[in-house]
Amino acid sequence: MSRALIVILGSGSPNAEAGRVSSGIAIAVDDQPYLIDCGHGVVQRVVEAHAAGLIAWDSAALNRLFITHIHADHTVGLPDLLYTPWIHGRSDGIMAYGPAGLNDMARHIQAAYAENVREHSKAHPSTEAGYQIRAHPVSAGLCYQDERVTVHALAADHGDLEAFSYKFSTARGTIVVSGDTKPVPDFADWARGCDVLIHEVYSAAQFSARPPAWQDYHSRAHTSTQELAALANLIRPGRLLLYHQLFWGQTPEELLAEIKSEYDGEVISANDLDCFEL
Ligand SMILES: [Zn+2]
Ligand SMILES: [Zn+2]
Repeated sequence: MSRALIVILGSGSPNAEAGRVSSGIAIAVDDQPYLIDCGHGVVQRVVEAHAAGLIAWDSAALNRLFITHIHADHTVGLPDLLYTPWIHGRSDGIMAYGPAGLNDMARHIQAAYAENVREHSKAHPSTEAGYQIRAHPVSAGLCYQDERVTVHALAADHGDLEAFSYKFSTARGTIVVSGDTKPVPDFADWARGCDVLIHEVYSAAQFSARPPAWQDYHSRAHTSTQELAALANLIRPGRLLLYHQLFWGQTPEELLAEIKSEYDGEVISANDLDCFEL
C-alpha cells in the first residue's frame, strides 16, 4: 500500500514572521515529493525536515513543482530550489506547472545565475540537467498525471494575477490546496468530500481594524474565517488545515475559534514542519 505524507514546509504569508517561512507544501507519495509553491526558506525547511527524521527524502528529490501564482511569497525561493538541490546531487531538474508567467520568471532566473552555473558545472558536469526547469502553463482541468498522483487545477480568484488551486488525487486520498484566493463559486463542488483541505485564511474579527485600502484588497483577493467556515460546511473535508494565515494580531487559538464558531469539523492551524499522514 502506498504512503502519502503532507509536509507543511512554509505556512507563512508575505508578512515575515518568526518561525514561519513563506508558502510551500510538499505532498510526498512513496517518498516522491510534489512541491506546491516555493516561498523563501522552503528548501531550508526540507533540509530541516530531513535532519529531524520527518522525511526520508531530501532536497535532491525536489523535481516536481506546482505554482499557484507568481506572488513573491510563493516564488521567491525558486532560485534556491533550482541551485541548492543541484549542489545536493539532483540530476534530473524540475518539471514545473503554473501560470503562464512562470516560464518567463524561470528564464530570467537562469539568466541571472548563468555565471554561477558555468562555474559549478565544472565541478560536477554529470549532473548538468539538475538545475534545469521546464515550465508548463496550467489551465483549469487535468494538469499532471503519473503512477502516484493525478493533479487537477481550478482557476482561483486572486486579484489581477492568474492563480490556481490544485487537487491531488492519490491512492491514500485527495488533498486540495487553495493557494491564495477569495471564494470561487465552483470551488466547493470541485473540492467536495476531499480528505484534506489546505486553505489560506484571514481573521474576519480583525478585518475591520485594517486600513481601508487593505480591506479592499483582502476582500477581493483572500478568504476570511467566516467565508472559509461557509466553504468548509459545503465541502465537509476530512480535515481542514489553515495555512497562509493572516492573523493580524490574533493567536492561532483565536483564529481557530473564529472558524469553529461556524464549522464543527476538524480544523487545525498549521505550523512549519507539521506533517500529516493520509
Ligand atoms: Zn500569498
Ligand atoms: Zn498572493
